[in-house]
Amino acid sequence: MERDDRDALLARLKVFEGQPAAVAGRGRDPVNLPMIRHWCEAMGDTDPAYTGPDAVAPPTMLQVWTMAGLSGHADRSGPYDALLGLLDAAGCTSVVATDSEQEYTRPLRPGDEVTFDTVIESVSERKATKLGTGYFVTTRTDVRVGPDLAGTHRFRILKYAPADRSRRATARRPRPVVNRDNAGFWEGVRHHRLLVQRCTGCATPRHPWLPGCNACGCPDWDTVEAGGEGTVYSYVVMHHPPFPAFAPAADRESGAAGPYAVGLIELPEGVRMISNVIGVPYDKVRIGLPVRLEFQAYDEELTLPVFRAREDLA
Ligand code: ZN
Repeated sequence: MERDDRDALLARLKVFEGQPAAVAGRGRDPVNLPMIRHWCEAMGDTDPAYTGPDAVAPPTMLQVWTMAGLSGHADRSGPYDALLGLLDAAGCTSVVATDSEQEYTRPLRPGDEVTFDTVIESVSERKATKLGTGYFVTTRTDVRVGPDLAGTHRFRILKYAPADRSRRATARRPRPVVNRDNAGFWEGVRHHRLLVQRCTGCATPRHPWLPGCNACGCPDWDTVEAGGEGTVYSYVVMHHPPFPAFAPAADRESGAAGPYAVGLIELPEGVRMISNVIGVPYDKVRIGLPVRLEFQAYDEELTLPVFRAREDLA
């Protein structure tokens, strides 16, 4: 796209900032205990605040109460759809959700009837990303009960023109995002030690690493080194999209990108972690398969903990 055309497109996109994407939306159902129970079961959240006569809804359910359901989005004539249409016409035909942020200002309780307004908060300048070049679009939804603001939900997408696959860099595993909460984990991996975080308040182990304990709220922790045993608790086999960086080693060397198994590995130390299952064809991975920890070097910078099948399944 020529520079003048790009400037003209950006000017047209910027017009959408501040325009409404939903006005006076209503939650399909009042905040209710059955939905809260389903959510807590799905998340494995047993916090007593979410049950009983004084129950509140988990704050992270904020968006749930505004969702329209599978049949909900009949009206496609508003500014948000016009904005997406303009981006489609400019070649940004792909979309990916990049992140969301929530703020909670008032607890939601069973019986609360939720209303919400969504505004197109910002449209970024044109950005080049690994996926392709496009624009970040951020919407902000204010969720209310009567006149009270219950919380705010920001949702960001990247609407982009997919990069030419043939020009992509060779297949390197994505780098882990190391931050102050998980730095100790990656330091352990560097020394070929798989460290499980453990609450020093109540001794509950946890993975992935978090700044506090979900069981008791205590911020203090130490670590336990995993002995290396594990079993496949569950798994998925990824077929599409083909992603050479995640392909088994033999495929990677030939440049192919066949299916691969992603395992949820249960450790006897009391946590589960997601990793690759290696040493076995992807279609032989099964629940209950015993595995053993290994550290696999993927390139000169990156070593990851993976799990090798212990049975001879050939
Ligand atoms: Zn604890």
